[in-house]
Amino acid sequence: MKCTIAIIGGGIAGLTTAIAFQKAGYAPVVFEATDILKPVGAGLGLAANAIRALDKLGLKNQVVNRGRILSSFTIKDEKGKTITYTDSGKISREYGLDNFTIHRAALHEVLLAEIPKERLYTGRKCIDYTISNDGITHQLRFKDGSTCEADYVIVADGIHSPLRQKLVPGSVPRYAGYTCWRAVVDNSDLKIDSSFEIWGSKGRFGAVPLADDQLYWFATVNSTANNPRFKNFTLADLGKWFMEYPPEVGEIIRSTFEDTLIWNDIIDLKPVQRYAFGRILLIGDAGHATTPNMGQGACQAIEDAAVLYSELITGGDMEDLFRRFEKRRLPRTHFITNQSARIGKIAQATNPFMIRIRNAAFRSLPDRIKDRQLKKLYNIDF
Ligand SMILES: Cc1cc2nc3c(=O)[nH]c(=O)nc-3n(C[C@H](O)[C@H](O)[C@H](O)COP(=O)(O)OP(=O)(O)OC[C@H]3O[C@@H](n4cnc5c(N)ncnc54)[C@H](O)[C@@H]3O)c2cc1C
Repeated sequence: MKCTIAIIGGGIAGLTTAIAFQKAGYAPVVFEATDILKPVGAGLGLAANAIRALDKLGLKNQVVNRGRILSSFTIKDEKGKTITYTDSGKISREYGLDNFTIHRAALHEVLLAEIPKERLYTGRKCIDYTISNDGITHQLRFKDGSTCEADYVIVADGIHSPLRQKLVPGSVPRYAGYTCWRAVVDNSDLKIDSSFEIWGSKGRFGAVPLADDQLYWFATVNSTANNPRFKNFTLADLGKWFMEYPPEVGEIIRSTFEDTLIWNDIIDLKPVQRYAFGRILLIGDAGHATTPNMGQGACQAIEDAAVLYSELITGGDMEDLFRRFEKRRLPRTHFITNQSARIGKIAQATNPFMIRIRNAAFRSLPDRIKDRQLKKLYNIDF
């Protein structure tokens, strides 16, 4: 098989990038490893910067219709006392866009609806590539024995990307030091109407209301990597672990079905120095996976697609265009990855003395500093 643009990976990055190419007049082909495209994960925060990027790609209304506005965000201590409060209404007024939350499945449905079925191949795990002597064609090899010759390759196969590891040897995921559980529950009885995170000595617990009376929650606990104890943790174990946290934590855990619980260690990628390699481009987590502390991983993947689209319509040679993309994306994605890792370390503090100092420092943080951070995050133009 032959194609001009091959996109490896049908996650948020791969699909939004395919849409960007389509919108610019190309016919990319997406190769996805799994047989059925099912979104792994639970809820997702889509901050105002991602909404702006979706707007650029003509996807804003479809996504917003399936999401829910994030009205506010409170960080509390384990006694339930507020550490910081962020009014999302203020963000809307200032940046003209809201922060949203959405179920991953809903976002995938919206994105998939834009991709012609004949250009989406599932069950195609890309295992290697070779480049022709003239540097023009890339022979992609898939696990099922099939191959594809592509002029340009977009690598969007997530944090474990074998193709990135070939391009940037040693770029293996790094463990952040904490492990995470997630689930989506029915919110009709819980009636939690605003997002919160509790930072305490046993770890973090957060909840985010979604559309259709659903609630996404997550919990993070410090641990060694791949800890068998936590791997086997049940909801009852989690309930006991967070027993001393405010009562809504126990209520949320009790309303969860065991088979919906997702567990994984938190990992990211030490920033790499290149995304463009001739006719190959790294996109999304494959290029810049971040810890979820800023809720920006998928947002950055969507920004990638919007920036790529703006370069595609500016025009020029594709290799130049990939380099322009890289120049625009490296500083911002590096900032997000580094800042998010720092926030994770601060938020996961378990030493009571450190917690007291941290909470006091956050409570006294002047609004202008918080505003400056938000400005850096949301004020992006495509
Ligand atoms: C606990 C947690 C909470 C998060 N919360 C948020 C949040 O609130 N907001 C936010 O913006 N981000 C969040 N993120 C980050 C977000 O999930 C990721 O950044 C985003 O999913 C990255 O999308 P991607 O398409 O780059 O990679 P992935 O989602 O990993 O998709 C990669 C795709 O490629 C496929 N694939 C893999 N290998 C191959 C191969 N060899 N060949 C072909 N296909 C392949 C996979 O099957 C998959 O479909 C969170 C992450 C975690 C872990």
